[in-house]
Amino acid sequence: MPQDWALRDIGTVPVTATASYNSVNNKTFIINGTGSSFGGTTDSHGYAYVNASGDFTISARLHDADLSGSNADRIGIIMRESFSPNATMASIGLHDNGFRKVWFTRRTSTGGSGSWTNGNTHTWLTVWFKLKRTGNVFTAYQSQDGVTWFEVGSATIPMSSSSYYAGLFVSNGWTTTSPTTAYFDNIATSGTILAGNNTPSTPTGLKLNRANKKVILNWNAVEGATSYNIKRANSGTGTYTTIGTAATNAYADSSITYCTANNVFYVVSAVNQFGESSNATANSLSIPNKLSGTIIGTAGSWENVATATKEAAMDGDINTFFDAATGSAWVGYDLGVLGTITKISFAPRATHPSRMVGGIFQGSNSVDFSNPTTLFTVSTAPTVGTMTEQIINNNSTFRYIRYLSPNNGFGNVAEIEFMVLPAMRHKLPALPTLLLP
Ligand code: CA
Repeated sequence: MPQDWALRDIGTVPVTATASYNSVNNKTFIINGTGSSFGGTTDSHGYAYVNASGDFTISARLHDADLSGSNADRIGIIMRESFSPNATMASIGLHDNGFRKVWFTRRTSTGGSGSWTNGNTHTWLTVWFKLKRTGNVFTAYQSQDGVTWFEVGSATIPMSSSSYYAGLFVSNGWTTTSPTTAYFDNIATSGTILAGNNTPSTPTGLKLNRANKKVILNWNAVEGATSYNIKRANSGTGTYTTIGTAATNAYADSSITYCTANNVFYVVSAVNQFGESSNATANSLSIPNKLSGTIIGTAGSWENVATATKEAAMDGDINTFFDAATGSAWVGYDLGVLGTITKISFAPRATHPSRMVGGIFQGSNSVDFSNPTTLFTVSTAPTVGTMTEQIINNNSTFRYIRYLSPNNGFGNVAEIEFMVLPAMRHKLPALPTLLLP
């Protein structure tokens, strides 16, 4: 496409529009488009366009066309307030009656029905079209030579003028998936084209969720974006590195399970053929340090299922779970050193989240938890498939930490994590050798 021009589809189309371009004959476009045309309350068509502002005129010669065979091909020029299928618009093009009828078609309110005015009902290729916007008055013309213009109609259409779109439409009718090919040349525009504004808007609403061995990102879709860049940093002021791209407004970062930082920060940007938007407002979430402690707890598993022992609660996989041989069971860490628990994260067994209700997280300095300190009690069934995080405000230091299931909870928990701040060395006279996690 030439500078400032872009190609996309409006609405739902069976085949994505394609185009080729040459600068000869004052811009020549060959556009293959599908879609069920326009009018009604929504439109569906291929669209080669510029981003216009203020009063604007566009004209083009439709030199030839390869019709789809549906007898419902529609080709011409159109101005649209937005890419939304139900946007206000004004158009003039050749349709119907064996591709002989010119219509001036417009939608004067968003979501409203289209209205139509006949032009020449015996039009033959080659034909010229022109649309002129002055304020909110849109005037449509056709011509056989590009010199003498016949005014087909004029209408007042409330349409924002600071940024809207003007260009060429091609649709192939209602049923066929065979594209219609339009050969345009002598494309002329007068008025302001917002080249820089063709980069997409900045994404908003970035949300992060921890899930199984990954971070799930969602954000609001950006109109006209062809892809998104996802970037990550280890601090809010750190350098963001692009870690992946997404075709839609969601991404799963599976390159992170545990992190050396307590928090990871994400931003996303939107991309189209003109470039990249600025980054969305950053969002962050905590990724606990993976502990290097020794897993301790109730031995064995229900019916000796090898994958359901206590280690399954510490394997970083939200789909695997501890399923003890006894109704009350526990799993935790011997940290090897003293530490302060600042946060606990947990996810329930997917099929039995209620088995965690009444479960408690404890710290102790006895391996048998003979004098435990309760740090948190699970009071409601946790959400399945995500890590529920609980901040702990207890400055005591513990060597042993655990999750103790309620009676008939069978130790069921899919995953638990502890964020631990190592105690300072001078507080540990009894442990001269420290292996900090
Ligand atoms: Ca697990």
